[in-house]
Amino acid sequence: MSAHHIQPITEILEHLAVDPDKGLAEAKITERRKQYGKNSLRDQKHVSFWSILIRQFTGLIVYLLAGAAALSFYFGDLTEGGAIVVVLIINAAIGFTSEFRAIRSMEALRKLSSVQAKVKRDGQFNIVAAQDIVPGDIVLCEAGDIIPADVRLIECTNLQADESTLTGESVPTDKTIEIPTNADEDLPLGDRTNMMFKGTAITRGDGLGICVATGMTTELGHIAALTEMADAEASPLEKRLDTLAGQLIWATLALTIFIAVIGIYVGKDMVMMLKTGIALAIAAVPEGLPIVATVALARGMWRMARRNALIKNLSAVETLGATTIIMTDKTGTLTENKMTAVALRTSETAIDLSASPPAVPLLPNSPEELAIRVAVLCNDAILPAPNSTDKRIGDPMELALLQAARHVGVEQTDQQNAYHEVHKEAFSAQTRMMATFHRQKDDPDTLFVAVKGAPEPVIENSTYFLGPDGPCDMDAKARQNWAGFNDEMTQKGLRVLALAMKNTRSPDDAPYQDLTLIALIALLDPPRKDVPAAMQACHTAGVRVIMVTGDHIGTARNIAEQVGLCDTNAAALEGKMLQAIDLTDQTERDRILATPVFARVSPEAKLDLVALHQKAGAIVAMTGDGVNDAPALKKADIGIAMGKRGTDVAREAADMVLRDDAFPSIVMAMHQGRVIFANIRTFVLYLMSCNLSEILVIGLAVLSGLPLPLLPLQILYLNLVTDVFPAFALGIGEGDRHVMERPPRNPKSPVLTKQDWARIFFYGALITVGTLGAFSMALYVYDLGDQEALSVSFLTLATGQLLHVFNMRAASSGWISNDVTRNRFVWIALAICVVLIGLTIYIPAFSRLLMIAPPSATGWLLVLGGSLVPLVLGQVAKIFTKPVDQSVSS
Ligand code: ADP
Ligand code: MG
Repeated sequence: MSAHHIQPITEILEHLAVDPDKGLAEAKITERRKQYGKNSLRDQKHVSFWSILIRQFTGLIVYLLAGAAALSFYFGDLTEGGAIVVVLIINAAIGFTSEFRAIRSMEALRKLSSVQAKVKRDGQFNIVAAQDIVPGDIVLCEAGDIIPADVRLIECTNLQADESTLTGESVPTDKTIEIPTNADEDLPLGDRTNMMFKGTAITRGDGLGICVATGMTTELGHIAALTEMADAEASPLEKRLDTLAGQLIWATLALTIFIAVIGIYVGKDMVMMLKTGIALAIAAVPEGLPIVATVALARGMWRMARRNALIKNLSAVETLGATTIIMTDKTGTLTENKMTAVALRTSETAIDLSASPPAVPLLPNSPEELAIRVAVLCNDAILPAPNSTDKRIGDPMELALLQAARHVGVEQTDQQNAYHEVHKEAFSAQTRMMATFHRQKDDPDTLFVAVKGAPEPVIENSTYFLGPDGPCDMDAKARQNWAGFNDEMTQKGLRVLALAMKNTRSPDDAPYQDLTLIALIALLDPPRKDVPAAMQACHTAGVRVIMVTGDHIGTARNIAEQVGLCDTNAAALEGKMLQAIDLTDQTERDRILATPVFARVSPEAKLDLVALHQKAGAIVAMTGDGVNDAPALKKADIGIAMGKRGTDVAREAADMVLRDDAFPSIVMAMHQGRVIFANIRTFVLYLMSCNLSEILVIGLAVLSGLPLPLLPLQILYLNLVTDVFPAFALGIGEGDRHVMERPPRNPKSPVLTKQDWARIFFYGALITVGTLGAFSMALYVYDLGDQEALSVSFLTLATGQLLHVFNMRAASSGWISNDVTRNRFVWIALAICVVLIGLTIYIPAFSRLLMIAPPSATGWLLVLGGSLVPLVLGQVAKIFTKPVDQSVSS
């Protein structure tokens, strides 16, 4: 039954038992939800418990462990074989819990950015979660919305929808309420012009419709059922780590085979060498890389979400850390978006709207009264009655107009009853105007057209203005006059709208011709208090901020200065000047690149600006809220949509959504992005230096004819202890406090630079020297015997690796108080590790299994000395290496 496009509306209404003026009764909703289910698609991206679990038992490590266990069982060593199986299980358990939690928390975060919808129920418009819509609901959709369900239209104005998600056709389709002529049941979706489909977007106008299908029964649902949706893509960082891990696997395998062969060649026990080789391979293969990266990213996303930045796209986290330019809009991001109308300027009077009691003489048909009428009629917002608990619906600017009208005693509903709306020309970012046509009760033949919009286009389109005694010619002098009023108010940082009117005969007449300008109305939108500090943080972090707004140049300049985005002498440009500039001219291009404020910018110009800066090598983060911003959001390296003010379309196109719309949240997210990237690198550095030390210890011992300083099971145990806990802790720390005092990372530089590799070898060598030093002294200087020497080397290596975690502090940080010592996870990890190592010494079952004996006092001194080598020398080396940091661009 998907032929809703050819059914008469009455039939549909009857079938779904709903009155279009009232909507469904709240009481019916639960019943219908039970009947039809939730309005959501089956979650295709949901990774199942089992698939995560099974994943833990595939991969090289598991095969190696299984091989080692089989080998032990084959040679009759049941305890060892059993122990390896236990290792295998613990390994899988750790992998499973961390991955499971990471994936679930990311899924939960993605859900947070879910879509809302406006429905009429019990005669009232309500905002509900899109998934709560049921068939029969009367749904209101406006430009910028993503349609929440399949809807048959019953009213529409100028409605156009982009249905490319369903039809692949990128040209928007015009919508009507008529049944297409000659339509049959199989009419292609793109031609069903009286329907709107779930998942498609409204590009223009608005419409009211009745929901006919929800969830999996929608057209989108049919498609989703057919095609498995693509997996959430791994971020570039995860991919690079995957590649790195892949390469390292082969390198370590080659190395361990080499060591095993040499060992056998110099006469070591073959089975022993085989097991050692396998254990080494297990220990050294950096299988944890991608998973810890996932965990670190998930943790970072969660931290950002808690502070109002929702990441939609994992790779955004990385790019955030490398961002060099933020292009931000003004309203709501840099300002509070809590608007109040403060002044009304007619041709003769300037009235303070915030004064109480109100000082507006509202004589019938005076300019003041007409101005307020236009402000109220040409308005999409709904302001609930003073004592009502209903939510305010709509744009804060329009709500401010309604509030101002109420202040002077004019109610929207009264006006709407006296002037019935018959047609609307929705606000468009191109014209920067909006118009509504109204039929008057006492004069049904004339239509009253109410227009509001940015002053420049409205003044431009006005042939008259309203003086105290009626319309006057809008001559050059008058134009200049009005432009002067506008400048005066914008220079104070006020947002100015023009209000105009005309009378006409037909709703099809051009809305913006021959207008009569009535008044300018100024709104105050104070800058957010927390913006100047965030702006300063950007300067320190080497990130430029550029304002790109649709507002007037005067207002833009004033706010930019107030928040410290630019100084008084800085240049500002208008969007239309951009078109006039010759971009092939180097100096002209440089002038634009250096300009911090752009006003009256059209969505197309936004796109050009992003491209221009990107060509100049910048990594651009860009904010946007409107439908038309989608291309610019996609083009930017990071598209940032506004959670409160933004349209669904913008949110869909963005990589990140700000729940509070606020600029400081962008800076916070950038900070987190840098921290996460640095954490992942730190953890890779740590893990690889530890792994390398294990290979070097065994390899050098074999080459130099020493006895084996580590047994296979000991290696496995170390791998579980040191690889996992401290590395994870490093991966999820709060990070270096100074990350925002450095310029952004060069996105082209590899995860590990040459310098990093040098550090890995340096630290690996230090741990090796300490361990082999203690081991050989135990053997040859103090004659402690093979058994105790083995314990000494095991404990030295274990402790040395643990202490080595403190070498991972940021180069610029302090000795005692630094990012590592402040990281409580590090201390927890160390505590766990100390207990786990303690078990091997003091719990007989463990000691026997791992062949560890509590060392003597001399043994302990050797352990202490040997394990301090990497820490002490590592810290000394930090003094001599200049603090070149990872994130400095090269
Ligand atoms: P911004 O929000 O950055 O100022 P917009 O593109 O949203 O940019 O708006 C551009 C201009 O259009 C505003 O400065 C205002 O003058 C005008 N404007 C915005 N919204 C409306 C509206 N709903 N009705 C009439 N004019 C509007
Ligand atoms: Mg806006």
